[in-house]
Parts: sequence; structure tokens; C-alpha cells
Amino acid sequence: MTTPSSITSWELIKQAIKAQLPNQEYTTWVAPLECTNVAGNQLFIKAPNILFYQRIHDAYLPLIEKIKAELGLDQYFIQFDTMNPPDETEDDDRACELAANPNGDESEHVRQSTVSSHQTQMDGHLNPLYTFENFVKGASNQFALSTCQAVAGQPGRSYNPLFLCGSSGLGKTHLLHAVGNEVVKRNPSAKVVYITSERFMNEMIYCIRFGKTMEFRQKYRNCDVLLIDDVQFISGGKKTTQEEFFHTFNSLYGAKKQIVMTSDVLPQSIPDIEDRLRNRFQWGLIADIQPPDVEHRIAILIKKADALGIKLDHEVAEYIARHKKKDIRELEGAVLRLRAFSEFDDVPITLTLAQTIFQDFFVAEAPKKLSVEDIQKTVADHFKIKIADLKSKKKHAAIAHPRQIAMFLARKLTPASLPELGQKFGGKDHTTVLHNVKKIEAAIVSNLDLRAVVDSLQRNLEHLT
Ligand code: ADP
Ligand code: MG
Repeated sequence: MTTPSSITSWELIKQAIKAQLPNQEYTTWVAPLECTNVAGNQLFIKAPNILFYQRIHDAYLPLIEKIKAELGLDQYFIQFDTMNPPDETEDDDRACELAANPNGDESEHVRQSTVSSHQTQMDGHLNPLYTFENFVKGASNQFALSTCQAVAGQPGRSYNPLFLCGSSGLGKTHLLHAVGNEVVKRNPSAKVVYITSERFMNEMIYCIRFGKTMEFRQKYRNCDVLLIDDVQFISGGKKTTQEEFFHTFNSLYGAKKQIVMTSDVLPQSIPDIEDRLRNRFQWGLIADIQPPDVEHRIAILIKKADALGIKLDHEVAEYIARHKKKDIRELEGAVLRLRAFSEFDDVPITLTLAQTIFQDFFVAEAPKKLSVEDIQKTVADHFKIKIADLKSKKKHAAIAHPRQIAMFLARKLTPASLPELGQKFGGKDHTTVLHNVKKIEAAIVSNLDLRAVVDSLQRNLEHLT
């Protein structure tokens, strides 16, 4: 039921946002958001369409949450309703138009529907576009994906806790939301809470300050699935936050409720956390996500383009994929850039267009590229051996093992072909290189210590660029 005071609360929040945003931005994005309903402490806010919602989610949610807390309205949870569902191409086109022109005529094209993931009691904001269906599977994320699917199918009963680990931009948050969306799809009454560890800390500090510790506990200890994003930041928090998290964890775990966490480093590498917490993180399953290889990047580019209604030729996708390697966010940016140029000049998306757009960019990036020599030096330094050893034919493990790692990293981080690598490693056959690369590839799946070493070498190397 709608109560005037709750609606007024939303208006208060809007007014405060207005004071902090440029007028144009406020009018375009925040003014159209209306509070349509209130249920308990949940404010239902209507966004004109799914893309509009996406924009609010990505650009304005932190501000909205901050202001809500400043106004002492933290007891309210914001749930978004949107118009048209995301999975119909025709509506998607319309959604794009509406995103560009949020006040446009919406009459017959759109129909009212609530984003399903927001129909249930839920704090945080599940992004309805982050689903398993929208996640492109590849060798580097297959393990993480299937464990997430297993967890979503039987929360609390397969892997608990599930700890997703990988560098930034590789899909951890996407998978976390996908678990939430899937759980809610299968069981609309499930209580799913999504939260970043940073917000967990802020909320806790707020609740302690205003004597609402009980409410805080109730919210986090009474859910069916707790999804905690970027748990590595818990280390920056106070001792009390870690303590609260520890008890939340125990209480949920004891009640066989599912916990899924993400982090950009393995539990053993999170600095400054209590051992007992680190230990809990390692209780269940750790699933990591590696950067996608070139074929996977091509598939992602084609799918992302497809979602925007663009048919991307394989050669165009391959051209971009061969140059953009860092993360998936970067691939999404490339597709948007392509589309913008093609629409602006009204030309089709071809290899020539892609080359024109990205050439300067790639050339400018070129001097920063890692070389096989950089990798050999970093690996040799780490293992305290000589670069000449890496190129030698010595077979004992103290040399052969670092050599395999160096080959693996060189294959992953440089565009060098197998024969080129063979040459740079002292004139070895390309099949030898491939054999060594595969060996490390297979070993890091199960050997977490090795993976930690390889990850840390990779991070050091990426800092060189
Ligand atoms: P992280 O949390 O690891 O930093 P995100 O989950 O935020 O990364 O992913 C960055 C972007 O890339 C998101 O828009 C996400 O939808 C997209 N993305 C990541 N992995 C995939 C994938 N395998 N398939 C499709 N999109 C992906
Ligand atoms: Mg993330």
C-alpha cells in the first residue's frame, strides 16, 4: 500500500540528488524515476525501460544509496520496476530509443512488467541483464560458470561458500548477479541479498551509530542466499566489521544458507584479514576466472554486438579480439564504439571501419605491449635463475618448471605464435612449446599454489605495461 510518507521519502531523496547533479543530467535520468508503490520498507521505483534502468544502476545507484543514508532513510530498500522485458529484440530496439529519449511516447510499444528479480524481497540491486543466458562460456570461465549454476540450482547444498576469484572485468559480478537472478526465477519467494563488501561495512557502521544493529543482523542473517561482491575490501574495514561478517557467515553457514563471494585475489592473498575469516573463505570451493583467449573474446564480441542488434563479421571480431585482451569491459566498449561510428557516419560495420577506428588506438598502445623478453626476465628473476637457463635444454625441475611458466605466460600475454616462441626459447620446436603451455594450463586448474604464483607473475607483468 502506498503511504504518503514513503512517497515523500523518495521525493526527498530526489531533491537531494538534484542538488548534487548538473541540471540536464538530473532532468534526463533522475526526474523520470517515480515511486509507484511501497510495500513494507520497499520503495518501488519505476524506470521507463530496461536500458534506462541499466544506466541508473551503473551510474547513479551509489549516489542514491549515499543520499539515502545521509538523509537517515536507510530503512528503505529501493526496488526498480521497468517497462518492457529485456529478452525481446523488438522491444530492445524500442528500449534503446527510450534510453535516448526517456520522455518519448511509450504508449503502445511498451507493456508494464516488473523485472522479475525485483519482485521478491531483496536488498541490493540485482541487474536483470546479468544472467547465465547472457554469459558467454569459454575455457577460462567454464568452471566458475558451472559451479555458479550448481549453486543456483541447489542453494546451500552444493558448494558452500563459493568463492569466485579473478582479475577485474572478467565477469565475477555478472556471475554473482546471475546466481541471484536464477535463484529468484526458480523460487520467487527466496530471500536473496546482494551487497558489496564496502556497502556491508558502511551499512554496519551506520546501524551501529543509530542503534539499529538488530535490524542489520536480521537482514543479513535471515536470507537464503547472500551474495557478497569484492570481498577483498573487507580487509580495509574495521575489526568490528570483520567480526560482524564472521558471525553473519557462521550463522548463514550453520543454517545451510548459500554464501557466494567474489574477490580479485585468492583468500590467502587478501591482506589484513583475520585468519579465522580467511579460513572460512576457504571452506567451500574456490572457482577462478582467467582472462579469455582469443576465440572466446571473438565469441563475446559477437554476442555483445548481437545484443545490440548488430551482426559482427568474424573478421571484424577477430581484428578487435586480437588487440583487446585485457578484460571484457574493454570488449564491450569496443562494440559500442564501433556502433557509434557506424551510426554517426551511416556506414556499415566492416573490417575497414574497425581498422580506421582502432588503428590509432592500437598503434598508441603498441609501445606498451609486453614482450617475450619482459616475461623471460620477470620469470627468471622470480625463480632466481638466468634467462639463458630458460632458453637452454636443461631438464631438471628447477629450470624446466620456470621455463614452462614463462612459455605459458608468453603465449597468454603476447601475440607471438608458437614457432616464434620456440625460437625465443632457444630454438625449440613449436610442439614443445605447446606441450609446456598445456601442461601449466592443466596444472593451474587444481594446483592453487601454482596458480597463485602464475597470477602474481601475471599481475607484475601487467604493471609493466
Ligand atoms: P568483474 O566483476 O569481474 O570486474 P564484471 O562482472 O563487472 O567483472 O564484468 C564486466 C563486464 O563484462 C560486464 O558488463 C559483464 O556483463 C561483461 N562480461 C564479463 N564476462 C562475460 C561473459 N563471459 N559473457 C558476457 N559478458 C561478460
Ligand atoms: Mg565486480
